[in-house]
Amino acid sequence: MSSTLDFLDLAVPPEDREVRDAVWRVLSSGTYVLGPEVEAFEAEFSEYIGAEYCIGVNSGTAALELILRAMGVGEGDEVLVPAYTAIATWMAVSEVGATPVGVDVDSLFGMDPVAAAAARTDRTRAAIVVHLLGRPADFHTISASLPGLPLIEDCAQAHGARIRDARVGSLGIAAAFSFYPTKNLACLGDGGAVVTSDPDVAERVRLFRSYGWRERSESLIKAGNSRLDEVQAAVLRVRLRRLDDENAKRQRLARLMSDLLATARLVTVPSGAEWASSVWHLYVVQTKNPDALARDLKEHGIGTLRHYAPLPHQTPAFRSLKTTYPIAERLAEAALSLPLHPRLAAADIERVAAAVGEK
Ligand SMILES: *Cc1c(COP(=O)(O)O)cnc(C)c1O
Repeated sequence: MSSTLDFLDLAVPPEDREVRDAVWRVLSSGTYVLGPEVEAFEAEFSEYIGAEYCIGVNSGTAALELILRAMGVGEGDEVLVPAYTAIATWMAVSEVGATPVGVDVDSLFGMDPVAAAAARTDRTRAAIVVHLLGRPADFHTISASLPGLPLIEDCAQAHGARIRDARVGSLGIAAAFSFYPTKNLACLGDGGAVVTSDPDVAERVRLFRSYGWRERSESLIKAGNSRLDEVQAAVLRVRLRRLDDENAKRQRLARLMSDLLATARLVTVPSGAEWASSVWHLYVVQTKNPDALARDLKEHGIGTLRHYAPLPHQTPAFRSLKTTYPIAERLAEAALSLPLHPRLAAADIERVAAAVGEK
């Protein structure tokens, strides 16, 4: 019982020949940025999601920014964002010069459709629907409550999640994915992608990715550099082939954890909607005093994290917006993320649940 059970274990094991070979193949190729591995990954990932185009970029934040730039969103514009999300969702909006307008969430941590309609003004140019924790937000109800408004999906935590038969990332005007090392589909550094079926958005995102170039050296628009590199793409191609199995394992472990914790006095287990299939990026329980439970679990050698405290509007960066979101705040105050990832075994989940249940 004294060994430690880390919240995450990201090191590539020595026996993972496929990932090591992929890195080695790129090392020997002499092509390191936007080459054949990136192109192949883009084709494979757009097909996996069920969309026409994929444009590899260098982070999830860049993916969101490039979508907004491609749509012409900037100074003076407002973009609806959920109050409960990673800070990057809000930052991408402010980085293009627009104002993130927070919207409170429903009990499943997704943007609340009624609150979204109430927050819309004549400056609202788009909404970013975040599929948080691996769990799809109620995209179709949100869409119906915002008629005519383009919806961008933030899929940084939901690679492979589905609403009925459709994968998230295929539903809105465009979707942003992150491949940061902690995500369900992860590379060995920073990486991201834009997925879309809109040819104009795809073309403009491609220009914004690299100096406004369609052909080398001819800048059609002003743009920076957000390119994906070949090492990351080669690793992502290997790991994309494993994604469905790993997500299925997360689902099995999550079911086990929820069964074991069903009668635990101290925590409420996460729930889902019958129309959605979660990929369990995070397993977040609600508990009265998450910091105390985190301390207790640490004494058992079990790592936990808080997602997210503080929420974006509570950080110094956005505090001046002077807003409050009661449901998001109540959920965040009680949230504790327990370890759950595909490297864990059923016995690890039993150990976590036993330590929580003991309290
Ligand atoms: C990780 C994450 C991002 C940002 O991705 P980066 O690759 O770290 O820039 C955006 N949105 C959400 C919900 C995330 O979890």
